[in-house]
Amino acid sequence: MSFNLSEAKRSKAKLRLAIDGPSGSGKTYSALLIAYGICGDWSKIAVIDTERESANLYEDICGGGKKYLTGQINAPFTPQKYLEALHECENAGVEVVIIDSLTHAWTAEGGLLDIHAEAVKRQRTANSYTAWGDVTPLHRKLVDAILTSPLHVICTVRSDTEYSQEKDASGKTVIKKVGMKPQFRKGLDYEMTIVFSLDQAHQATVSKSRISTFPVNDVIQPCAETGKKLSEWLNSGSDIPTCSDCGKEIQAYGNMSAVQVALYTQRKYGRSVCTECGSKLKEINYGETSEYEEPRDVL
Ligand SMILES: [Zn+2]
Repeated sequence: MSFNLSEAKRSKAKLRLAIDGPSGSGKTYSALLIAYGICGDWSKIAVIDTERESANLYEDICGGGKKYLTGQINAPFTPQKYLEALHECENAGVEVVIIDSLTHAWTAEGGLLDIHAEAVKRQRTANSYTAWGDVTPLHRKLVDAILTSPLHVICTVRSDTEYSQEKDASGKTVIKKVGMKPQFRKGLDYEMTIVFSLDQAHQATVSKSRISTFPVNDVIQPCAETGKKLSEWLNSGSDIPTCSDCGKEIQAYGNMSAVQVALYTQRKYGRSVCTECGSKLKEINYGETSEYEEPRDVL
C-alpha cells in the first residue's frame, strides 16, 4: 500500500514566522523580543540586517549582559547573499535567526523584481510572463532555505499602503485606500507557520496561523512572552525524526510536517532523509528506462 494511512501526529517544529507591517510599526523590535522569548539567551539570536545597521539600534534591550549577533547585507540584495547569510548563521551556533527584512530580496536593488526586469530586457519580449522562468527558481531556493533551516526563522516584511482607482457616483475617478500589502512575492503567508501583521500602534493581528494557541484575528502585543508561548507549542509535538543520511533533524516542508517528510522519503528512497539529502538522491528504476532509449513524442 502506498497511501500509508496513519494516526495524525504533529512533530516538534522550528518556527517560521513572518512579521509584516509599515515602517515604524516596530517589526525589528518585536522580532527581537519574540526571539528572546523562544531561546532565553540573547547570544543565541542573529539578525541578518539589510537596513544599514538598524539592528544595532536595539542593542539596549539586552541589558548589560550578552548581546545578539548582527550581520549586514548590502546592495545588490541578491537571493544568493541571503542564502549565504542564513548559512553563516546556521553554522554560528545560534538558535533563532531574524531576516530583517525579506522585502529587500524582493523590491530593493538586485532583488527578485530587478532580476525579473533584467530578464525581460534580455528576452526582448513584451511578455513579462516568460521572464519569471529566470526568477521563480531563485525565489524558490530562498523560500526553501527558510523553510528547511534547522533554526527558528523570523522574517520581517515591509508592507505599504495599497490604493485602488475607482469611479464615484458622478463618474469621477477617486483613489481609495484598500489596505496594507506586504512587499514580497504573493504566497509567503501560506508557507509560514504564522504571520503577525503590525500596525503603527505596535499591535499585531494574527493574520495567518497554524498554531492553535494563536487563533487568526487575535490581536496581541508582541513581547518575550509571545515567543515563549510559540516555543511551547512548537515543542509540544512528538520528537522530530532524524535523517538517516546526515543525522540532522528532518524539518517540515511546505504543508508537510516533519513526520510526513519522513514517511514520504521512506516510500520514495527506502529510508527517511531530510529534504537536503533527499534532493541529492535520484530515483533509480532500472526496469523501465535505458540510456539509449529514443526520446518519446510528448504528444
Ligand atoms: Zn540529511
